[in-house]
Amino acid sequence: MRRYIFVAGGVMSGIGKGIATASIGKILKSKGYEVSSIKIDPYVNVDAGTMNPVEHGEVFVTKDGGECDQDIGNYERFLDKEFTKKNYITTGLVYKSVIEKERNLEYNGKCVEVVPDIPNEAIRRIKNAADQDDADFTLVEIGGTIGEYQNLLFLEAARMMKLKEPEKVLFILVSYLPSPNTIGEMKTKPTQNASRSLNEAGIQPDIILGRASTPLDAPRKRKISNFCNIDESYVISAPDANSIYEVPINFEKEELGKKILEKFNLDVGDKDLNDWRKMLEKAESSEEKIRIGVVGKYFETGDFTLTDSYISVIEAIKHASWDLDVKVEMDWIYSEDYEKNPKKVEEIRNYDGIIVPGGFGSRGVEGKIEAIKFCRENNIPFFGLCLGMQLSVIEFARNVCNIKNASSTEFDKNCQEPVIDVMDDQKELIKNKSFGGTMRLGECLCEIEKNTISSKAYKSDQIKERHRHRYEVNINYEKILEKSGFVLSGRNPESSLVEIVELPANRFFVGTQFHPELKSGPLRPHPLFVEFLKAAKER
Ligand code: GLN
Repeated sequence: MRRYIFVAGGVMSGIGKGIATASIGKILKSKGYEVSSIKIDPYVNVDAGTMNPVEHGEVFVTKDGGECDQDIGNYERFLDKEFTKKNYITTGLVYKSVIEKERNLEYNGKCVEVVPDIPNEAIRRIKNAADQDDADFTLVEIGGTIGEYQNLLFLEAARMMKLKEPEKVLFILVSYLPSPNTIGEMKTKPTQNASRSLNEAGIQPDIILGRASTPLDAPRKRKISNFCNIDESYVISAPDANSIYEVPINFEKEELGKKILEKFNLDVGDKDLNDWRKMLEKAESSEEKIRIGVVGKYFETGDFTLTDSYISVIEAIKHASWDLDVKVEMDWIYSEDYEKNPKKVEEIRNYDGIIVPGGFGSRGVEGKIEAIKFCRENNIPFFGLCLGMQLSVIEFARNVCNIKNASSTEFDKNCQEPVIDVMDDQKELIKNKSFGGTMRLGECLCEIEKNTISSKAYKSDQIKERHRHRYEVNINYEKILEKSGFVLSGRNPESSLVEIVELPANRFFVGTQFHPELKSGPLRPHPLFVEFLKAAKER
């Protein structure tokens, strides 16, 4: 039997609904149940591929090439499972299919209405995603904040599902309790209002997770219980945690898993989060420190620095560090700083390893190229991801092969020496401004050359990794690069596209056209990240 657990957020955005959802899933999984998870994003964008990463965070790519919200990455990491584009639903996607059906006369001449046709399509998509496997539970995280206009139709879908099959649907409200310094006390009123707004949408939460800086005390729980019409035992603390991976353990302190299972009349059993606990203990026990610099540009929003654009990279570094028993200190380096002040690049000497992650457009690329040059010349471990790999090719072409004007047609359409060029099948798409969902996306095969850094890391000569890009290494420059010592160690067996490059002369100098970070998990660190950190540790 399929059961659905809807998770919605109260008071404000950014309180960790995604991590809460993933943690609930992890707890249920640890108790022996199969779990699936869906993210609903109320944006009109059809997918996340066209959203600016600084505004919306990283675009997480599924194996089948879905461009999704970063929470799908959290689900994959916590549930140790791969999802598909069906697990990500947006307002745009729902409206698009309703309008297409209407154009195809699939409503048989009926007037098509926002209610119930839009929620019905949302329900169809939720069930369709749940039907991909035999999950006992499908978690459905509704993005946005209760009380706003944008997610109302999805709340309506949830209400309709509960009405039809009440024994199969549960509602969890994750809500924020501020503790303003000037008052010195944790306040429940905003959560009371959030719960009331949810009631207005016809939904009574079954469980409230109280997000706050500390666990909720008895008076707070009592108040929420009274005002939100819910038994005190179903008000669960969700305090700030040092690591996102602690969240399931915090929830279990108040037996969240048992309470959910009892609500569904299911067996609680005696299994727990043992493997997860062990992993965390190991992570916390490491003492040896290493410093990794991430040279990027998607950090800034007004006066604040956010790192959500690189979340999978950050998590992959953590996973690998636990495997190697080291503590990683991560620094965010604005690549444009190296353009304004070229001497600043010398600071890279202070790092044990440098990552240049993915990106789009020409802003900041020259600074990244300077950083890569410094790594290559000073034997500092370097790992380039997608754009980072392309820039390592440009740097090598310019400074080792002496092709001074080497660049990518992404930055300069008329570039004289396009060592990185747009893929053939992309040219027409770009000309027609057909940008949404048209990159080289999702999992592709890669064959690895024997006796290379990559083959040593993967311990395999054939792998599958996920892609998201339009440009590639230009075949016309392959020979020149190789002659000067650049090794093109991974290729797609069908198209021959270059997927991995490396410099064997260095400690670790590897670039991948794909995004290895997307497949790393806390219980399955990615071999290339492990190898990179090993080199950083040795340094
Ligand atoms: N902008 C580059 C391309 O489209 C790299 C993309 C990326 O880093 N994901 O090929």
